[in-house]
Amino acid sequence: MMNVYNSLSRRMEELKPLADNTIRLYTCGPTVYNFAHIGNFRAYAFEDILRRVVQFNGMKIKQVMNLTDVDDKTIRGANAQGVALTDYTKTYKDAFFADLKKLNIQSAEVYPAATDHIPEMIDLVSKLMAKGVAYQSDDKSVYFKVREFPGYGKLAHIDFDHQQTGQRCAADEYDKENVGDFALWKAWEPSDGPVGWESPWGRGRPGWHIECSAMSMKYLGETFDLHTGGIDNLFPHHENEIAQAEAATGKEFVKTWMHCAHLRVNGEKMSKSAGNFFTLRDLIEKGYTGREIRYVLINAHYRTGLNFAFTALDDARKSLEKIDRCVEQLTKSALGDTAAEAARGTEGAPAFAQKALEEFTAAVNDDLNLPRAFAALFGLVRETNGYLSQSSQSSQKSQSVLAVFRKMDEVLGIIFFENEKAKVEIPAEIQAMLDERAAARAAKNWAESDRLRDAIAAAGWVVKDSKEGQTLTPKA
Ligand code: AMP
Ligand code: ZN
Repeated sequence: MMNVYNSLSRRMEELKPLADNTIRLYTCGPTVYNFAHIGNFRAYAFEDILRRVVQFNGMKIKQVMNLTDVDDKTIRGANAQGVALTDYTKTYKDAFFADLKKLNIQSAEVYPAATDHIPEMIDLVSKLMAKGVAYQSDDKSVYFKVREFPGYGKLAHIDFDHQQTGQRCAADEYDKENVGDFALWKAWEPSDGPVGWESPWGRGRPGWHIECSAMSMKYLGETFDLHTGGIDNLFPHHENEIAQAEAATGKEFVKTWMHCAHLRVNGEKMSKSAGNFFTLRDLIEKGYTGREIRYVLINAHYRTGLNFAFTALDDARKSLEKIDRCVEQLTKSALGDTAAEAARGTEGAPAFAQKALEEFTAAVNDDLNLPRAFAALFGLVRETNGYLSQSSQSSQKSQSVLAVFRKMDEVLGIIFFENEKAKVEIPAEIQAMLDERAAARAAKNWAESDRLRDAIAAAGWVVKDSKEGQTLTPKA
């Protein structure tokens, strides 16, 4: 049984599919005007864990993540460079998908782009106009009349009739947009340049909020299971999505809402506007891997703030090495027979492994409690190391323990991280120097070993020595 905290009811609730044993999930995606930063990726990594836990529990998932490819920022960027909006956003869409791969984030089932769904948005705005909850103002833009929707404020827990604000709202960028009527359709302005679509209200473009209501309902139906985003999306964005959808259909829009807390830097939200951000590329250039970054992003409860620090990445590297060493040895002991291991499954696993899996399962089903899940994983690592040092090992037992690691990794996605195993490509000339250095060290020719280490460093690589031999990383 999978329990999650629903931001709408503010209670823990069981997550049960409304239909077809399928959780229909909508996640607010990136605005593709720049490279996403790792704060954004905290949200996407949380959603990845969520979809993996849904599947871990035997349910199916249909996830839709939008790509906001028209708004003030994308238009400004395209017009400043004098390129078409689609060409401008394509660079960042492609980069986004490449980054998701590096973080081993599973693909959503649908990635609708806003510019491909303008007719659906016009249709939804027309419905709202027909119901009298929207109006066109003197500036030719169309607005939603918040006072006409009685449920307005139910997600943020704000009582607009009495103007009392809930605590979430105060904590999360309440001042970013004005409370009150919000734009459904924005009239064309000269600064929009060539960007614009014809509509019953004249040339213009959709507002940001309408995009998510229109595209979620198109792919997931008028009422669906689950909607997520970062906590900054809760108000006004998600509140407005509810208002638009429910005012148009008269039905409940979404059953469960989940929001992740922010990734912070020195106590402040990581954001483009504050300038305190790192993109995934920045960190990879510093020599960290997608796998290490994923580890840091998921190794905290999603509803607690996570302060970004390089020391956390260094710790992640050490923890992953610990896991790798154990799994490598276990694989040897299992004779590397993956077919036998798959056939065996987790059932015949020794008690210590069964217990670790039970603890792991209870943790992920308790509102995605990843810190507890990691504790279960490290318990398993410890016990497995003990088991491997005994004489009572058998390849069959080892196979079933390995199957438990694999089961846990269905959720974590960090143990058998295939694209990471390929690691950095080592240029041929550096490899040649490494080989020469290994030979020099075998011959105890330390002067030559040091000379080669310096030559390798001059070429931009750091070589370290350990019992297992030399390891190479690109210089930070
Ligand atoms: P944006 O491109 O700003 O609309 O953000 C895309 C997603 O990333 C949304 O779900 C945001 O809530 C989320 N997000 C933005 N900044 C952060 C942060 N510092 N920590 C966690 N999530 C964030
Ligand atoms: Zn959205």
